[in-house]
Amino acid sequence: MPLKVHPDIASLSPYVPGKPVEELERELGIAKAIKLASNENPLGPSPKAVSVLDHAARTLHRYPDGGAHALRAALAQRFKVTPDHVILGNGSDELIGLLARTFLAPGDEAVMASQTFVIYKMEVTAAHGVPVVVPMQDWRHDLPAMARAITNRTKLLFVCNPNNPTGTMVTAPDVEALMAHVPDHTVVVFDEAYYEYVRDQEFPDSLRYVNQNRPVITLRTFSKIYGLAGLRIGYGITTPEMTDYLNRIRPPFNANSMAQAAALAALDDEHHLRASRSLNETERPLVEDGLRRLGLRPVPSQTNFLFFNVGRDGREVFDALLREGVIVRHIEGPMIRVTIGLPEENRRFLAALTSILGR
Ligand SMILES: *Cc1c(COP(=O)(O)O)cnc(C)c1O
Repeated sequence: MPLKVHPDIASLSPYVPGKPVEELERELGIAKAIKLASNENPLGPSPKAVSVLDHAARTLHRYPDGGAHALRAALAQRFKVTPDHVILGNGSDELIGLLARTFLAPGDEAVMASQTFVIYKMEVTAAHGVPVVVPMQDWRHDLPAMARAITNRTKLLFVCNPNNPTGTMVTAPDVEALMAHVPDHTVVVFDEAYYEYVRDQEFPDSLRYVNQNRPVITLRTFSKIYGLAGLRIGYGITTPEMTDYLNRIRPPFNANSMAQAAALAALDDEHHLRASRSLNETERPLVEDGLRRLGLRPVPSQTNFLFFNVGRDGREVFDALLREGVIVRHIEGPMIRVTIGLPEENRRFLAALTSILGR
C-alpha cells in the first residue's frame, strides 16, 4: 500500500545540502577537497565558544534550560530589548517553520522573492500555505511589487536581507516604504543571517519596527559569522506578543545546552568577529577581481559569498569544479554561488574555474 501523504508534502523535494568535504574526498579518492558551498566561516568556530564546550559537556545528562535564560538575557541586552522579545531556534531555520505553522491556515499566502532562501517555500508549503513568489529586479527584492502582492490572505512576507543566494540588500528607505504599505494582518520576517557582514550605511534597522510594536520579526543566526553552524542555534527578535504565540508551538528543548553555552561565549568574541569580517573584506574583492578577469560579472555582495553567471550550464561547471575538489553551489541555470574562503581556498577556486572555463 502506498503511503497516504498530503499532496502539499508530496510536492516538496528534499533540501539538497552542500556536499560534505569528506564525502567528496571519498568519492574522488582525493585528500584536499574544499567546501565553499554553505557560507560557513572559513576561520572556524569562535575559539571562545569552543573553550566552554568541555565544561558544558559535564551537564549533558540534564535537559537544556528550555527558557535559555542566560543567552536570551545577553541577546536582549545586546539589542536593547527585554528578554521576552527574544526567541531561540534550532538554527533560525526552525524559527521559519514555527512562523509558518503559527500564522498560516491552509490556503493563506506568504509573499517571498523569486531567488531567495529555499527554506521559506518549503516551510510555507509544509504548513499548507501558498508561496506567492515575486520576481526580483537586478537580483534584488522588488519591495514595491512585494507590497502590491499582499492580499487579505497574506499572513507572512519574507525579506531576506542581505539576500541568499544573490548577496544583495534592500535599503532603509526601501524598507520604510514597504512598511508603510504592510497591513496589520501580515507579519514581515526580516531574515538577517548575514547581518554581521554588512557594511553599507543604508542597511535598514529592522529592530526599529519591533520597537514600534509592528508585526515584524528579525531572524539572525550563530551559523554564519560566529562559525557555529554545526551546533544549530539562531534567534528571533520580535514583540512579546509574537514570542508568546511562537512559544506555544516551540519544542521546549529546541536550543540544546552545548549550543546555548557556545552562543553565549561567541557573542562576546569580538576578536573572532573582527577577524572574520576582515578576512571577508580582504578576500571578497580579490575573488571578484578574479571572476572579472574571466569575463564574469559577480553581483555586488554585502555578504560572505558571491553570486555570478558562468555563461553556460551552471550544473556542468559545478560538476567540473567538484572533480577539481572544489565544492560550490549551483543555484539555477547559469548561476553559481561561491562562499569566500581562506586565501588559499579562494586561489584554488579561481584556478579551477579558470581552467574549466578555458576548456
Ligand atoms: C544560513 C541561513 C539561515 C540560517 O541558518 P541556521 O543555520 O538555521 O541558523 C537563515 N537564513 C538564511 C538566508 C541563511 O542563509
